[in-house]
Amino acid sequence: RRRALLAESTGPGRTEDGVPVALLLNAGEGDPKEAGAHDSEGVGLLRTEFLFLDRADPPTVAAQTDTYTRLFEEFSGRTVTVRTLDAGSDKPLAFVETGHEDNPALGVRGFRTSRVHPGLLTDQLAAIAAASEETGARVRVMAPMVSTPDEAADFVALAREAGIREAGVMIEVPGAALLADRLMSRVDFVSIGTNDLAQYTMAADRTLGTLPDLLDPWQPALLALVGAVGAAGERSGRPVGVCGEAAADPLLALVLVGLGATSLSMSAPALPAVRHALARHSQGECRRLAELATAASSAGRAREAVRSAAHPET
Ligand code: PEP
Ligand code: MG
Repeated sequence: RRRALLAESTGPGRTEDGVPVALLLNAGEGDPKEAGAHDSEGVGLLRTEFLFLDRADPPTVAAQTDTYTRLFEEFSGRTVTVRTLDAGSDKPLAFVETGHEDNPALGVRGFRTSRVHPGLLTDQLAAIAAASEETGARVRVMAPMVSTPDEAADFVALAREAGIREAGVMIEVPGAALLADRLMSRVDFVSIGTNDLAQYTMAADRTLGTLPDLLDPWQPALLALVGAVGAAGERSGRPVGVCGEAAADPLLALVLVGLGATSLSMSAPALPAVRHALARHSQGECRRLAELATAASSAGRAREAVRSAAHPET
């Protein structure tokens, strides 16, 4: 019965009372046609690292333009959110010299890479701009690992110089979440990366595998930060997406919407169950579930409280 219910649930994301919550795809390396064939409202996170890793030199602007064009063509009329290069830390690049780092997760990674190699980012933005001209997709860009409102403003300026109309940043550093109001005024949208935001909020290395309880996306501290960003989004009228793994859990997706998320991005298999969960709950119910989760004293209790209060078929 559950499978039949999920198969019936198609189309744009909506709460039970009709509030739109765009359901987007996390994409990366892989067949663009296959990505385009999923029932999504677009791409909420295009991880572009696959173009840069395991190479002696960066890809040319022409080669990048070609790759982006092939994906954008499959999303004509839909949104594609391209995340600029998020290398460094666990994904070092041969052609970016950062020097030895004892704590690479706290080092030159993500947007910070442009401090030592600005041409990488400007070339990538030029390629994205060129590719978006040739297709009907609504292309927007966002930078990973932005920590301050000034960094957000710098990225948006670079995107505009490249001719890209919509530019935002990922919120994956607590400092960015804490100044969300100031940051929001400098960008067109934000997207919360819960994987890194959990790592930096709980001071628990996401690559370790020995601290899963601290990295649990139901941690009330993480949810409190998501709520702070959601509230800033509501005040400013800017869209707030979530593109970390948290968005793929249907119960947690309800909580994220209750905290102010206006879009959710996930891997393709998660889309039907999240769509179905949303259709069973009003925005008001999502808000109540969010209150229960953030008020809980642990991740486990947050999950249990929401599970027993949500619709049993979630
Ligand atoms: C995140 O950090 O939540 C995220 C979506 O980015 P990545 O997992 O690629 O670091
Ligand atoms: Mg991240």
